Amino acid sequence: MIDAFARKIDYMRLSITDRCNLRCKYCMPEDVECISHDNVLRLEEMHRLCAIMAKLGVKTIRLTGGEPLVRKGWLDFARGIKGIEGVENITLTTNGILLEEHLEELKELGITKLNISLDTLNEGIYEKITGSNALADVLESITTALYIGMKVKINCVPLAGINDHEIIQIAQMAETLPIDVRFIEMMPTEVNGGLVPMPIADVMEMIKAHYPDLKDDSHFTTLPRGFGPAKYYKTTEMEGSIGFIASISDIFCSTCNRIRLSSDGFLTLCLHHRRGVDLKELLRGGASDAEIEEAVKVAIMAKPEKHHMKAEDGKEVNLKHMSRIGG
Ligand code: SAM
Ligand code: SF4
Repeated sequence: MIDAFARKIDYMRLSITDRCNLRCKYCMPEDVECISHDNVLRLEEMHRLCAIMAKLGVKTIRLTGGEPLVRKGWLDFARGIKGIEGVENITLTTNGILLEEHLEELKELGITKLNISLDTLNEGIYEKITGSNALADVLESITTALYIGMKVKINCVPLAGINDHEIIQIAQMAETLPIDVRFIEMMPTEVNGGLVPMPIADVMEMIKAHYPDLKDDSHFTTLPRGFGPAKYYKTTEMEGSIGFIASISDIFCSTCNRIRLSSDGFLTLCLHHRRGVDLKELLRGGASDAEIEEAVKVAIMAKPEKHHMKAEDGKEVNLKHMSRIGG
């Protein structure tokens, strides 16, 4: 699919559930109101939509949430969509807590690219951010995933006064492990009041001061790394690399290749716009595949050229909590 700004749309983030076993402060309110069960798409409905998207040119589907691994049947669902013609990659974004026991099955399925969220290496801070004491489980999942040869990216959201003193320590994981450690600028949502994002430029400055010979990834490889907006850097000695995603301070909309489908079947064209189409209504209203395809094509043509989240805009930010949208 090509949108009105000549961007090729071939990547879909699919939130298979809005539920989660954590309550990360920047993402989900403690007393989150979950989508009612009736309104969450059944996995068969999601499968049908994935097949329609694949027909329209989506080649990569990232399973996300909420926490995708808390949805019953997620692995069989992943197996099912792996078989859809046109789907070339299935990837997973997870908090890693329930991951370890499924790693071998995922590998057998050929799902070997994992993004795992890890904001801190300190148990107390982990609990402060997520409300849980499961850090050890996450670290174990990461270790096992690497051991069996999976490709792991770490997602870390730097927060002023909370984990900012750990930036170098977290980045150092890339020194000896084949991990891409990515620092993601916190996006303002309706729930993260009180948290202060650390601008990615500051994180980068800190890391460049620690690694003066840090070079842009293109010095080491000509292959594209991943499907997204991260910019990667490394040194000659590093096993992995360090990535930066600056969605607020560095607009990367001109190359955006993605759409998002929420667990209640709403197709969103941009993380920061409510514009989209309710595919659940069509599905459950008895629409044919051709009718749904048409609705998706019309929606894609309305994908906004860019988001308007720069702080100096002074505009009201209307991003809901991230767990609904899948990041
Ligand atoms: N539960 C899974 C996890 O945590 O990896 C998948 C869903 S989570 C919404 C996906 C990603 O969004 C995570 O890496 C998380 O750190 C990120 N995220 C959540 N809220 C965010 C925010 N306000 N700003 C930036 N990233 C955020
Ligand atoms: Fe759950 Fe992921 Fe949001 Fe944390 S970031 S609350 S793990 S959905």
